[in-house]
Amino acid sequence: MIVILLGAPGSGKGTQSKALAALYGFSHLSTGDIFRAEIAQKTELGKKASEYVKSGKLVPDAVVTEMVAGKLEPGRRYLLDGFPRNVEQARSLDGLLERSGSSVDRVILLELPQAEALKRLTSRRVCSKCGAVYNTLTRPPKVEGRCDDCEGELAQREDDSEATAKKRWMVFEDLTSPLIAYYKAEGVFARVDASQEPEAVTAALSGLVDGGGAGR
Ligand code: AMP
Repeated sequence: MIVILLGAPGSGKGTQSKALAALYGFSHLSTGDIFRAEIAQKTELGKKASEYVKSGKLVPDAVVTEMVAGKLEPGRRYLLDGFPRNVEQARSLDGLLERSGSSVDRVILLELPQAEALKRLTSRRVCSKCGAVYNTLTRPPKVEGRCDDCEGELAQREDDSEATAKKRWMVFEDLTSPLIAYYKAEGVFARVDASQEPEAVTAALSGLVDGGGAGR
């Protein structure tokens, strides 16, 4: 089964992907997480992606698609988070899946107003040691600046600054939102209100992943 979570930056794709992966045994494939790890390790791929990621622009399609092609194993259940990001990538994904006899089963949009998404992004903090995610407004750590789990230092992602977060939102509007029409046409599209509490969003997503509800 292949499930895609679509949504503007800040809509909770990462958080919800982790929850669904744990509940349903999906492999969680986050292209953003992969790029950040490659950048931190200073690999060739990381060097290619670095400037794009830091400035909130999309990494070129060929680079992303080749990377994803190398990760997808036939027959496994995947939850794709952050890929595809535009229609070109969606077409490439369809081609990749077709070759292994599968297709996209469900595409779910996490809907959130821009102001709320920007608020969430600029107040997000990530543990630099274990990757745990906090929010200074809604989920602060017990000790300011320190991870509850491993005491690692909490930092703001470079692309979560207000200016870059706004740019990422515009990239989403321009390039990623056309995917809604693309997947509606394929009959696999559904949407969920991402302004609810995280647990309520997970419950709504679970209903869609477990069956039913596509096409709206
Ligand atoms: P994310 O963690 O999904 O918000 O992604 C962070 C950044 O990684 C994006 O702003 C892009 O620079 C890059 N990125 C992640 N996924 C893709 C993709 N599918 N296509 C192009 N760039 C991507």
